[in-house]
Amino acid sequence: MNIETLLSQIKFDLSAVKLEQLPFDDGYEVVFVGRSNSGKSSCLNTFTRKGMANTSKTPGRTQQINVFSLDETRRLIDMPGYGYAKVPPRIKKHWEALMDDYFRERRCLRGIFMIMDIRHPLKDFDIIMMEWAVASQIPVHILLNKADKLTFSESSKTLLGVNKAIAPYAPHVTAQIFSAEKKTGLSVAYKVLKPWFGIN
Ligand code: GDP
Repeated sequence: MNIETLLSQIKFDLSAVKLEQLPFDDGYEVVFVGRSNSGKSSCLNTFTRKGMANTSKTPGRTQQINVFSLDETRRLIDMPGYGYAKVPPRIKKHWEALMDDYFRERRCLRGIFMIMDIRHPLKDFDIIMMEWAVASQIPVHILLNKADKLTFSESSKTLLGVNKAIAPYAPHVTAQIFSAEKKTGLSVAYKVLKPWFGIN
């Protein structure tokens, strides 16, 4: 199966606010997480070459798990962005608990793309999420997005620093340079995605 063809078949499935609202826990699920404004929606759209994910939004509307189907067994999940300054603590706690439950309980979860703005990598909640994922033995691949905002040498230096920081989590956590805008790093990201979807 061709990964690009599979991704081009993307269809919006449903939005969930509780784990019980998600599709039956079967098949393959790959999730996109990241701080708000890291470019998570742009990365999803670049992956699928479609404008499915919502790139202009208000915090309230994005507090949902958005489920997209690629075929009968494979799904992409757009998790709510985190790190909004304005979100009340009660709501924040709810989402933290939900994401923690999702990582621990979701059997079909095969891998996590964690989107970071390359100029602000590895913020507090990124690290918490990474630790939850590693505890559940779910692989995490970090996309250091917006690399077009830096020079090649600045990007490389950031990647080196991130690789050093994630070394204790090896081999579960990996990282690469990415730009949703310029499509830099897309073929490397596809190589990571294919086995998560059970594709050679
Ligand atoms: P989200 O909140 O994480 O879903 O982020 P969005 O995808 O909505 O992107 C937030 C902002 O960053 C938007 O203004 C995007 O145009 C911009 N953005 C996203 N990816 C890139 C990128 O690779 N390069 C640049 N220069 N800007 C980007």
